[in-house]
Amino acid sequence: MSRGTKIVATIGPASTDLQVLTRMIRAGVDVVRLNFSHGKAQDHIDRANLVRQAAAECGREVAIMADMQGPKIRVGKFEGGKIDLANGDKFILDAKWGENGELGNQERVGLDYKNLPNDLRAKDVLLLNDGLIVLVVDKIVGSEIYTTVKIGGELSNNKGINRQGGGLTAPALTAKDMEDIKTAMSFQADYLAISFPKNATDMEMARQLANIAGEPYGHKPQMIAKIERAEAIPALQEILNASDGIMVARGDLAVEVGNAAVPALQKRMIRMARESNKIAITATQMMESMIFNAVPTRAEVSDVANAVLDGTDAVMASAETASGRYPVETVEMMAAVCVEAERSEYNKLDADFLNVRFTRIDQSIAYGALFTAHHLSVKAIVALTESGSTPLWMSRHNIDTPIFALTPSVTTQRKASLYRNVRAHYLLQQGTSRDVLKQAEDLLVEHGIAKKGDMIVVTWGEPMGQVGGTNALKIVKVGEFS
Ligand code: PGA
Ligand code: MN
Repeated sequence: MSRGTKIVATIGPASTDLQVLTRMIRAGVDVVRLNFSHGKAQDHIDRANLVRQAAAECGREVAIMADMQGPKIRVGKFEGGKIDLANGDKFILDAKWGENGELGNQERVGLDYKNLPNDLRAKDVLLLNDGLIVLVVDKIVGSEIYTTVKIGGELSNNKGINRQGGGLTAPALTAKDMEDIKTAMSFQADYLAISFPKNATDMEMARQLANIAGEPYGHKPQMIAKIERAEAIPALQEILNASDGIMVARGDLAVEVGNAAVPALQKRMIRMARESNKIAITATQMMESMIFNAVPTRAEVSDVANAVLDGTDAVMASAETASGRYPVETVEMMAAVCVEAERSEYNKLDADFLNVRFTRIDQSIAYGALFTAHHLSVKAIVALTESGSTPLWMSRHNIDTPIFALTPSVTTQRKASLYRNVRAHYLLQQGTSRDVLKQAEDLLVEHGIAKKGDMIVVTWGEPMGQVGGTNALKIVKVGEFS
């Protein structure tokens, strides 16, 4: 059974190994995420090389997503590596602590964001370590934030801090991000994920920096906005317009907006992304218990399945594949759950098109192909594409017919590895349209998708062989061009 929903897997200590990575790719990884919150530039460069090597061994194209750390606010380090906070304890977050190398203790700890005291006031609620620890601000005195522990627990080195409701002023791109963007462009990361953007400007700035850094390599990455702060929600449409896709970054988002708000937001974000011709990735804790266990919980299985039914392009594994015990099994499990969920999907293509007005030629051809495939029994839709924009349009709607993106561009092939229901293959597209259609037919036959006499729908840009927008659609009977 083929799978339409894509799998993004974060790599880390548990998966930085050619053999493990190869097994993960064979199990279904489409995109590998490099998390720039951990490790040095060289680690990421080495990992990117390893991914390319593993993908080559599998005979596949796997995209690389470089995920910037962003302005995540963190506590400093502790004398003993960690402390235990009890409910009712007094605790100070001190922006000046650590300036002379002081380590944290039971009374206070340093902060990496020196402006935090200016952003807070009494009664603000601070959530540490993904919301496991809750502090209430009593007062601010200079660089010191005095708090009372509302929910205690173990607090270890460099844990993150969020304010309930959001509204911290840290800029989206840090100096570290700007350096990391250069590193990511040096290995031509296909996707660049920006953490904590709050508006379109943050994404536009990031894209500009990335395009400049990519210029020596002739590379422009696809930009993913991680939606994980409260301010990003009302700005979602403008952020979508400025990005190529979004990540429903449920970890930080849940801390800022409250856990209970996240499932409905996830549905809205995915719907808006698809309607805006952008892609969506659903992330964080999807198979969390598989960090330690070889099987997921029922709730995790449902979570992955429901993300598929929400229409996500991809589901993402974080610690499960980066530092967990079962990286390969996690991918296998996610793949199996996606396939089952897709089988139960309700195809409502006609309803999708009821009130749609087409605004572009390639969009019209793309939707025309979907409509034809939906109403005529065809084995596949084939998009002969240079930039990948036609298969992107096609993949914004649910359809049972597989979509093949055949492209002479490896960049496009990798980019499309995140598009739901799209299978991207390399095809040089040389010669007359007759030659190219014949090559497309051969490829489908080779993959066991169609046989002589079957019908397929093919789209391309006429005249063939020139870069330009898709403007042609043909219904082809396989064998016609042999
Ligand atoms: P992170 O982003 O893993 O980089 O924190 C994802 C999230 O916040 O959910
Ligand atoms: Mn995050």
